[in-house]
Amino acid sequence: MRLSRYFLPVLKENPAEAQIVSHRLMLRAGMIKQASAGIYSWLPMGFKVLKNIENIVHEEQIRAGHIPMLMPTLQSADLWRESGRYEDYGEEMLRMSDRHGRDMLYGPTNEELITDIFRSHVGSYKDLPLTLYHIQWKFRDEIRPRFGVMRGREFYMKDGYNFDIDYDSAMHAYNRHMVSYLRSYERMGLQAIPMRADSGPIGGDDTHEFLVLADTGESEVFYDSAITDLTFGDRAVDYDDWDACKAIVDEWTTPYARTDETHDEALFNEVPEARRKSSRGIEVGQIFYFGTKYSDAMGANVVNDKGERVPVHMGSHGIGVSRLLGAIIEASHDDKGIIWPEGVTPFHCGIVNLKQGDDEADAACEALYASLTALGLEPLYDDRNERAGGKFATMDLIGLPWRITVGPRGLKNGVVELTCRRTGESEELPPEQAIEKVAKIYATL
Ligand code: ATP
Ligand code: MG
Repeated sequence: MRLSRYFLPVLKENPAEAQIVSHRLMLRAGMIKQASAGIYSWLPMGFKVLKNIENIVHEEQIRAGHIPMLMPTLQSADLWRESGRYEDYGEEMLRMSDRHGRDMLYGPTNEELITDIFRSHVGSYKDLPLTLYHIQWKFRDEIRPRFGVMRGREFYMKDGYNFDIDYDSAMHAYNRHMVSYLRSYERMGLQAIPMRADSGPIGGDDTHEFLVLADTGESEVFYDSAITDLTFGDRAVDYDDWDACKAIVDEWTTPYARTDETHDEALFNEVPEARRKSSRGIEVGQIFYFGTKYSDAMGANVVNDKGERVPVHMGSHGIGVSRLLGAIIEASHDDKGIIWPEGVTPFHCGIVNLKQGDDEADAACEALYASLTALGLEPLYDDRNERAGGKFATMDLIGLPWRITVGPRGLKNGVVELTCRRTGESEELPPEQAIEKVAKIYATL
């Protein structure tokens, strides 16, 4: 993409309405525009990152054997009356009626719809296990939408639902979700720690939230710092291997890590003092086993191998796709702007032409642009007639992980400058070597 032809409406001034850094930077970098309270338009660069995050989520869900589909945003109130949640959900549910006076709502989540699909089409244990998911807009009429996309009213969420014949099989689905979530967050350059969470009135302890540590998080969290040393890396996972999945879950759930809702001071005190940490965290996902709550209420049952009708065991599993943009920026920025992890960056590499209009500099930039593109990478070429300082400031603000700077002086010596956004370190290299280095970094993702 050439910046002169793109739509990147960066703001020079800090927007007054933004209280936290991710909101400020998303506005300044021209990624979003508020349409009304808690509802945003996704401008081209914000949309690109949103799609990158969505793609990672899709790839990892499909890898885990979960099946993508799409359910609508608008739902009929009837199904929610069946489950008993139409009354329970309260004012967070946006309700409306159509021209025939039928009660409708904008879905805050999809347990009812998916259970209805299941009961209409599945009747035998032979069709289980089954995990279906979708990535779709949700609406919750939050009393205080704030922090930009972090607590919106309209937001983009992955929600998946498992249907299993019994508790053990459902727990394997739970473990599969935890493993696939750990992989997903790590690919986004994030550390999201699974923390035992409050399961509310349903009871049991089969729910974990995934939290990104950040001062601006809304949750108070307590953890053993040993958990922050764990990394998933490139280990291969066989999602059909129950024991292998459970071993990974055990590895991540043995060190103490809880939100304030489930925090247990006595247990926490058993952690060596130097490793006892408390901080704030941003919830970027949650997995939940809830047994037969919806299948009982809505009659979702199957015939088991003894010919008896039994309710299916279910769980639901969510990732806050749009909230993740804010969480990633909270975890990865400096005073100049965003620092995108390579896994989600909107463009792989910036190209800055220090002397637009200079034949040699222009030609060198065009050649870099063509070579990077030919390698399947997407560069953003700042080809505007602007001063170098302004171009650097824009690149730093929008946070591309790598920048190649091209100027007449370097070209005389046959070199360009390759700069890492995270460390600020630069090196002078012949253009082919700069390209090779950038390509290599992305090839390992
Ligand atoms: P919270 O406690 O932050 O209100 P929740 O527990 O009600 O969230 P879930 O129903 O678990 O949310 O939804 C799954 C994920 O969707 C959450 O982990 C979070 O990342 C994201 N999410 C929930 N509410 C919002 C919102 N208002 N804006 C943006 N993302 C949200
Ligand atoms: Mg939650």
